[in-house]
Amino acid sequence: MKQTIVLKVDAENPDPETVKTAAEIIQRGGLVAFPTETVYGLGADALNAVAVAALFEAKNRPLDNPPILHVADAREVYTLAKEVPRQAELLMQRFWPGPLTLVFKCSNVVPEVTVAGLDTVAVRMPKHKVALTLIKQSKCPIAAPSANLSGKPSPTTAQHVYEDLNGRIDAILDGGNACIGVESTVVDVSVDPPMLLRPGGTTFEALKQVIGTVKLHPFVQAEQELSVEKARSPGMKHKHYAPKAEVVLVEGAVPAVTSKIQELAQSYMLKGLKVGILATDETQTCYSADVVKSLGSRFNLAIVAQNLFRLLREEDAENVAVILAEGVPLEGMGLAVMNRLRKASGYRIIKA
Ligand code: AMP
Ligand code: MG
Repeated sequence: MKQTIVLKVDAENPDPETVKTAAEIIQRGGLVAFPTETVYGLGADALNAVAVAALFEAKNRPLDNPPILHVADAREVYTLAKEVPRQAELLMQRFWPGPLTLVFKCSNVVPEVTVAGLDTVAVRMPKHKVALTLIKQSKCPIAAPSANLSGKPSPTTAQHVYEDLNGRIDAILDGGNACIGVESTVVDVSVDPPMLLRPGGTTFEALKQVIGTVKLHPFVQAEQELSVEKARSPGMKHKHYAPKAEVVLVEGAVPAVTSKIQELAQSYMLKGLKVGILATDETQTCYSADVVKSLGSRFNLAIVAQNLFRLLREEDAENVAVILAEGVPLEGMGLAVMNRLRKASGYRIIKA
């Protein structure tokens, strides 16, 4: 077991000496969790195959699911990617730094383990002072998947990282809450037209405004497990975001959803099960159950996204047996929220 050190840093104005301690760990091939604007990432030197292998091991991550390479300067893309299409340049100009990951044809500087043997590489420039300072001081691209144990909800605080990875990694840079709360949007720009593989912090609508046509991969809005052959992005096929409790997602018009959830809550409680509900500000008074938490207003899906993973963890901490969650519209940040909720539920979706 490793000794995991926790280093506090100011998110806006990180102390260079503290970040240097973390950067030296990355340079030695170690593992450091750090805040980004989306969720906490678990970083390793992307060009060090041994370090990246240890990264997969620490997370229990399947070796066929590559991490995203984080850069502090958009020009790095020209080293990591074999070709950078015009549409990618437009997206980088508009959205970097920010919650958008682009998938390129891979150059030969990236070790095979880092891209899980694929001929493509996923790259992003985060919009977070701590992350950018760490990457610059480490002097390498940092491979970083979310800093949770594989399959668990992604971490939005250093405490979440500690709960999952204490003893398994070298350090955690604690820079407070990750503000977006869901991961980056992943867009494959190695194909024409570009294809959105994972919805996240950059909305589908915003992407289309910049480059016109973007396809949505069928996995993005899937309501059931799709076959592995169709899994363009390896992460799509793995179980994800699952708390210990069983999650049931109820979708439909709001009045039908609230009455269905209340009916389900009653029947589970009659069976003696502890029931948690993930409601919204507008609906939370409709329910009586053991634990009722609000994700935020239905009219502000960015806040719902921000709270999602934290509340899934909090419901788990209350030891509920089942979490009944309300669906939200598939618009704006709602697309990312619903993608995570459907996966968290293992596609136990009820149409009210
Ligand atoms: P995470 O690092 O946990 O946020 O997950 C990274 C996501 O990016 C996963 O869904 C991966 O499958 C996806 N990803 C990473 N590299 C590639 C790639 N070369 N092609 C497609 N998807 C990728
Ligand atoms: Mg992840």
